[in-house]
Amino acid sequence: MTASLDISELHWMLDIIQSIDVGVVVLDRDYQVQAWNSFMENHSGRTASQVSQQSLFELFPEIDRSWFTHKVETAVMLGTRAFTIWEQRPYLMRFKSYHPITGLADVMYQNVTILPLRTVSNSSDHVCLIIYDVTNAAVNRLQLETANTQLRSLAIHDGLTGLLNRRHWESCLEHEFARHTRYNNPASLVLFDIDHFKRLNDSYGHRAGDEVIRQVAEVTRQMARETDLAGRYGGEEFVVLLPDTDLVGASQFAERLRGRIAQLVIDHEGTSLSCTVSIGIACIHAETTGYNRLIEEADQALYQAKSTGRNRITLSDAGHRTGQ
Ligand code: GH3
Ligand code: MG
Ligand code: MG
Repeated sequence: MTASLDISELHWMLDIIQSIDVGVVVLDRDYQVQAWNSFMENHSGRTASQVSQQSLFELFPEIDRSWFTHKVETAVMLGTRAFTIWEQRPYLMRFKSYHPITGLADVMYQNVTILPLRTVSNSSDHVCLIIYDVTNAAVNRLQLETANTQLRSLAIHDGLTGLLNRRHWESCLEHEFARHTRYNNPASLVLFDIDHFKRLNDSYGHRAGDEVIRQVAEVTRQMARETDLAGRYGGEEFVVLLPDTDLVGASQFAERLRGRIAQLVIDHEGTSLSCTVSIGIACIHAETTGYNRLIEEADQALYQAKSTGRNRITLSDAGHRTGQ
């Protein structure tokens, strides 16, 4: 550590500063390095004498100069400490991280304290930077956040298809129904089931069946709009809730979906598989007393589609039934 500061008589303090596991840098008001402890030497690969009187910004071009000087000048003007935290900027100086546990972080995450150093006349002509290596805490937090995000996703999605699972989909439906009650906007429900799926399972095996379910789900996801809510309702039964869509719009969507699924050729370990779906459609109307009623009506329409020949759509509204 160079000693342009008047601390030469405080050998013990130097010892402490050299041995603590945080970075200590003292800068003059031109941002030139006046002091630099062994933490800084170890992580930068430069000795104190090499960096003495050098500009911090030349030593570390990665520092955002205008942001950093603004922060320092404000601290000096107010005579108070300032802080930078890794959540806002992962680091001030780009140091390699050698933390064995992580394997995730190759840079050292840092919190930095900016400490204006006062002279006896109470003016600040030097600034001390204290650099804390917070890589462990940061990586733990990031891992926890990633795990939480994954958990949240697992809790609402179906494992096989990635569509919403039934429980979450139903809560979305409940929410949409409440929105309808308040604003009276239309909403439609498309419920569909793969035709003769048992046969497919029996002929080609359960794994082939799973692949068909996955691909049907994928087509559904592609065809649904961002605001539509597609879910796996049961084994080979799917639902799409179409907010702000009336029966006409919903039946157009359903017909396109039916057509696309019927054209699918699914390659499963060299065997080409195909399938069709039967679709029931219902929309919220004046007598829809609850969201369960909407499901029941779509289910009845689906039953009709099955019993009138499959591979077709049926509207729940009596008098509006169409086949294809
Ligand atoms: P229908 O046209 O009347 O719908 O005939 P279906 O054979 O599809 O009849 P049903 O809906 O009763 O049969 C569904 C079958 O789907 C029964 C079950 O073994 C199978 N299944 C349910 N979930 C899964 C799954 O996750 N993977 C596979 N491979 N099969 C499933
Ligand atoms: Mg079926
Ligand atoms: Mg079924």
